[in-house]
Amino acid sequence: MTQTEIVNTTTNSSIIDLETRDVNKHYGDFTAVDNVSLQIEKGSFFSILGPSGCGKTTLLRMIAGFDEPDSGDILIQGNSMLGVPANKRPANMVFQHLALFPMMSVAENVAYGLKQRKVAPAEITKRVNNALESVDLGGSGKKKISQLSGGQKQRIAIARCLVLEPKLLLLDEPLGALDLKLREHMKVELKQMQSRVGTTFIYITHDQSEALVMSNKVAVMNNGAFEQVGTPSDLYYHPETSFVAGFVGDANKWKAKVSQVDAVSCSTQVANGPTLRGKINGKSPIAVGDEVDVFVRPEAIKIVLADSNINEKDNSLQCKVVDLLFNGANSTALLEDTATGKELHVALPQTGEYLGLQKGENLIISWSQDQTHCFKSTQKTNA
Ligand code: ATP
Repeated sequence: MTQTEIVNTTTNSSIIDLETRDVNKHYGDFTAVDNVSLQIEKGSFFSILGPSGCGKTTLLRMIAGFDEPDSGDILIQGNSMLGVPANKRPANMVFQHLALFPMMSVAENVAYGLKQRKVAPAEITKRVNNALESVDLGGSGKKKISQLSGGQKQRIAIARCLVLEPKLLLLDEPLGALDLKLREHMKVELKQMQSRVGTTFIYITHDQSEALVMSNKVAVMNNGAFEQVGTPSDLYYHPETSFVAGFVGDANKWKAKVSQVDAVSCSTQVANGPTLRGKINGKSPIAVGDEVDVFVRPEAIKIVLADSNINEKDNSLQCKVVDLLFNGANSTALLEDTATGKELHVALPQTGEYLGLQKGENLIISWSQDQTHCFKSTQKTNA
């Protein structure tokens, strides 16, 4: 069974923690959230991924109760949250700017929400210790916030929410303020923490690598609406829209016109450029004459010797090596299509030098039509 589905059915609150039904939010004439419906299964790590301004925070704020939708409904474990204030919802939010109290100790920060709720002191001590253990900071309760590293502060902000035992933990780009190395580390920490505590995490980010690494499911958002909801590998290998193919992972992209079409594939002509063959993707049917976006992943492209046989189903191009980018375990060849000057990325399993490639060298690249995704072009752009 899948963990998240877009649905129009009654919520089964024993397996679904959050449901949004046709949620809309407008600011004047501008639609910030456009008819968003989803279900998130209990205990999952769910990310909402999209570019700046696509409506992620607006949606999260409505789930948290800091804003109300103009229409639609938000249900947590089957109960409508319309009109329920933020502090009465079984959801807590971790902000990018963590808002910890610098003069208080770690334990006092974590205990704060429980004191507000007038929980008995012995119970507070027990729950604070458990929360600190769950973020791997057991024994740090007496430290001052100023004595913690960026990643430790991040974990305290999460512990402060977890101690309140929310059904949902809402995370608004919480790694955004950390440096790159710490961000990489915290991605793994957060994923492990979520599976340890079992709370449903809803995580918003514009960073596709964060969403792919951590999530059971990802909703890709654009212009206020969901483009696709799926597992990280669904989004990467089976994108349903041109936007998802371009936004999730690296891809080479051409604009082309369809010259021939059958049930599952088409031939396309790039203006003053190559003929490319690929699979028809997306929900819009494609006809001869349509404008399409053609995508191929850098790792789908093979470098072939000039005298090798190329399968007639393959796409192939004459290219020149512009640069070799060393990434450590692998590298990227930056190539130029000799006929059009278009820049292309090709992933190499080893360094370019190891494979004997040289800058300025001419070569032929080839890739299969099964790994080429064609989508009918849309004019939609981000606001
Ligand atoms: P970012 O990643 O940059 O935080 P986001 O995807 O979270 O972006 P939102 O903050 O949800 O985007 O904003 C969505 C759109 O709604 C933006 O164009 C923003 O300018 C607009 N918007 C958000 N809040 C308001 C407001 N209070 N009044 C008017 N417009 C708003």
